[in-house]
Amino acid sequence: MIIGVVKDTIPGELRSALVPSGALRLVKKGCQVMVEAGLGGPSRIADNEYAAAGAVLSSRADILARADILLKVRKPLIDEVRAMKNGSIHISFLDPFNEKDLINGLAQAGISAVSLEMIPRTTMAQKMDALSSQANLAGYAAVVLAAERINRIFPMMMTPSGTISPARIFVIGAGVAGLQAIATARRLGARVDAFDTRPVVKEQVQSLGAKFVEVDLGETGQTQDGYAKALTPEQLAKQRAGMAKVCAQSDIIITTAQIFGKKAPVIITRDMLSGMKPGSVVVDMAVESGGNVEGSVLNAEVDVNGVRVIGPGNLVSRVCVNASEMFSANLVNFIEHFWNKEKNTFVLNQEDTLIQGCLITHQGKVLK
Ligand code: NAD
Repeated sequence: MIIGVVKDTIPGELRSALVPSGALRLVKKGCQVMVEAGLGGPSRIADNEYAAAGAVLSSRADILARADILLKVRKPLIDEVRAMKNGSIHISFLDPFNEKDLINGLAQAGISAVSLEMIPRTTMAQKMDALSSQANLAGYAAVVLAAERINRIFPMMMTPSGTISPARIFVIGAGVAGLQAIATARRLGARVDAFDTRPVVKEQVQSLGAKFVEVDLGETGQTQDGYAKALTPEQLAKQRAGMAKVCAQSDIIITTAQIFGKKAPVIITRDMLSGMKPGSVVVDMAVESGGNVEGSVLNAEVDVNGVRVIGPGNLVSRVCVNASEMFSANLVNFIEHFWNKEKNTFVLNQEDTLIQGCLITHQGKVLK
C-alpha cells in the first residue's frame, strides 16, 4: 500500500500532513511512504529526515498518480483530484459544507474522500481528532498574538516602582480553542473571564482559574455530538447585553464561537467595541467562518475607535512545527486504527460508525 503526501500550496499554509516520525510508523507497518520533496520545509524539516525514516522523495505528479492513500492538510484542488488514482483514498480537511463542486469531483474521479472535520468527537476518536489538535494550538497562538499587539503586560507585578494590575482577558466560546486560550492567558498571569452558551463548560472554565460570566439565555442546549446550537436573535441580543460590561472592562477579547457547519455568530458589535478602552485588542478566531466581531477583516488588523480588531487566518500555522506533529499523529492514528493485521492493509470499513461519520464520497457516490 502506497501512502503519498503532497505539499499544501495555498498561501500561508505552513503545516505538513506528515512528519518523519509519522512516516517511520507507517513504514514499520509495511507501507511504502512517498513524500513530495520539500514537504517539511516551513517547519525546517529536511528531505533527508523523511528519507532516513524510510520514505521515498518524489514529485507531486508521481505521488498523485500512484498513492493508494493521499494525505494533505487542506482540501485538494480540482486539478489534483483529476490527477489522483481511481479507487484511491484521500484524507484532509475537506470543508464539505462549502465545497459541493469539489465533493462531486472527488466522487466522479472514483476517490474515497475522508473529511477530517466529520470524524465524530467521541472519546475513542480523540487520537484522530485533528479539529481538536489544531484548535488547541490555535487557542495558544491567539493569546500570544494578542500579547504581542497589546500595549501592556499580562501579569500582576508588585515592584518598588508600583503595583501593576493584571490584564483582563475575556474569552468568548470555551470549546477546545477557547479553553486553551484561557489556560495560556492564565499561565501568563492574566485575569480571565469566559463565556459559552453551553452551560456544561462552566466547570471547565472554572477549573482553569477563570471566571464564568453568567448570562441567562434560557434553553441553549447542545447537539448530540456536543456542538453548540445556534441562538435565536433574541438570545443573541441578550448575550450581547449580558456581556457588554465585561467587554468594556477587558483589555483583550478573544472570540472563538462557532456553530458547526454554519456561519459563525456575530457576537461583538461595533457598539460594544466602542465601549472598550482605546488600545484594547480583539482577536476574532472565527474570522474565517464569517467572524464573531463586526468589522473584523481576514488577515488584517483594523482600528475601530482605537480598538485593534485582528482577524488572523490560519492561526495554527504560526506554530506549524507542533501543528504538523499533531496533525501527522492524528492521520497515522487513523490509518493504524483501521489497519487489518491479517491482510496487512488499511481497510475502509463501512460498517464502522467512525467511517460512516467521515467518509464523504465512495465508489462514485456522494454519501453525505
Ligand atoms: P466549536 O469550534 O464548534 O465552537 C467553539 C465554542 O463556541 C463551543 O464551545 C461553542 O459552544 C461556542 N459557542 C457557539 N456559539 C456561541 C455563542 N453565541 N457565544 C459563546 N460561545 C458560543 O467547538 P469545538 O471546540 O470544536 O468543540 C465542540 C464540542 O466537541 C465541545 O463540546 C467539545 O467539548 C467537544 N469535543 C469532545 C471531544 C471528545 O472526545 N469527547 C473531543 C473534542 C471536542
